[in-house]
Amino acid sequence: MDGRGHHHFHGGPHGGHHEKPNEELVCNLEKCVFCGSCVEVCKKEAIKVDKINKKWTLDKNLCVKCGHCIGHCKVDALEFV
Ligand code: SF4
Ligand code: SF4
Repeated sequence: MDGRGHHHFHGGPHGGHHEKPNEELVCNLEKCVFCGSCVEVCKKEAIKVDKINKKWTLDKNLCVKCGHCIGHCKVDALEFV
């Protein structure tokens, strides 16, 4: 007797979408010149730049991770990590 088993494949594709990594916008303070461009282009007003005290801060609750600011930073200080 030929006792070959046969495989059952469960139909159904495995997930249909990529899970988004938990990225967060960060500013490389060694590159940042505190020009404020990112502040101006952020529609959510998520970024604050203090030119005097050289501080860059992000309100993570406001940031929608659109990436707009990244494209406007002329020194490439911004990135998602
Ligand atoms: S646009 Fe770039 S250099 Fe200018 S404040 Fe923002 S992060 Fe810093
Ligand atoms: S990623 Fe978009 S929402 Fe977040 S700080 Fe930059 S411009 Fe603002």
